[in-house]
Amino acid sequence: MSSTTQLNSVQLSTWMSSVEGSPTMALNAKAMALQAAGHDIVNLAAGEPDFDTPVHIREAAQRAMDTGKTHYTPTSGIPELREALVGWVSERTGRSYNTDQIMVTAGTKFGVYLGLASYLNPGDEVLVPAPYWVSYPSMISMLGGRQISVWAGPEKSYKVSVDDLDKAITTRTRGIIFNSPSNPTGAAYTRVETEGIAEWAQRRNVWILSDEIYSSLRYVDEPYCSIVGADSRSSEWQILADGFSKAYAMTGWRIGVLAASTNLIKAATRMAGQTTSCPSSISQYAALAAVTGPQDEVTRMRDEFKSRRDRTQALLEDIEGLGVCEPHGAFYFFLDVREFLGRHAPDGSTLDTSDALCTYFLDHCGIAVVPGEGFGAPGYIRLSYASKIETLTEAASRLKQGFEALK
Ligand code: PLP
Repeated sequence: MSSTTQLNSVQLSTWMSSVEGSPTMALNAKAMALQAAGHDIVNLAAGEPDFDTPVHIREAAQRAMDTGKTHYTPTSGIPELREALVGWVSERTGRSYNTDQIMVTAGTKFGVYLGLASYLNPGDEVLVPAPYWVSYPSMISMLGGRQISVWAGPEKSYKVSVDDLDKAITTRTRGIIFNSPSNPTGAAYTRVETEGIAEWAQRRNVWILSDEIYSSLRYVDEPYCSIVGADSRSSEWQILADGFSKAYAMTGWRIGVLAASTNLIKAATRMAGQTTSCPSSISQYAALAAVTGPQDEVTRMRDEFKSRRDRTQALLEDIEGLGVCEPHGAFYFFLDVREFLGRHAPDGSTLDTSDALCTYFLDHCGIAVVPGEGFGAPGYIRLSYASKIETLTEAASRLKQGFEALK
């Protein structure tokens, strides 16, 4: 008889089973599958620019391939890109960094994860202003931490105050995730608000993880204020995650930047070295061209987003009962649909949740928008305006008809 135990099946680990899928990616995938099957779907679910990556960046990638830059690179990135990022990050944040404090990551998402993994111990609490980006809760729970959501609704322009944070902090609170401009709300904190939160974090001994991926996509006149630069403590207290996906229309290239203390960057590099290794060598050369080349395409895309925002806002405000809050950054509207919950669709079904409402919109009105549940905001929906104006006009018309059909 064999001495080994016979198993009838192999189960996923408890840890892996607890990892939830991204609701935005799931909805986007469903909308794309319907489109592929021939359905007429207007897809405003995806969180990515519809623009192509600027030509000079693509050419740099081509050159990298043609000149044999197709091998492993150092885990933390090619030296010339890290060097260029020192200036890029220092200029954006107003804080000075050196190369040992900069790491190139395989996307901003992985940078956020590495930052959290570097500081979180089991049971540690992290304050997360809500509505929040869908991936923060999963990352925190994967690492054994506890997310404490701090709600700020449309009446507060989706921005938490120091008072709100004071109410949420406990003796187990170690950090706060700050995301301005925000996905999903488009809220952008002013300089005064940002400095207030930096000062609060300092007073309460809380580290800050600042996700600044939308910092180039702001539609206000006030110059950008990074919370990382507003915090006068030593670099161990701030973790900056930024990247190229949104501002340079480079979502598929998977390049992000992590800027933090030398100690954290060393640890994060060890972890990346044992899991993903370096980000794509070709993408790194593309990112180098993005940082060091002309920035006029970034400005052009930003201006285009702003004009789409203005046009879309006017169309959405024409829908009675819909709560529209002007977004000051990123490319999303976060719409308050609480007024419509509990109403009936033409087929008689009751739409009790924003989730049910989005399913109704996708299945009966041919429009994909994301329910607020995954962003910690049931009763709200997210609409991305990173689409052509004709698409946005059609979307607004379908939404209007869809809402008006509810009884
Ligand atoms: N952070 C926020 C707030 C985002 O909205 C996104 C993408 O949607 C990311 C990070 C991930 O960016 P990347 O594509 O660079 O991983």
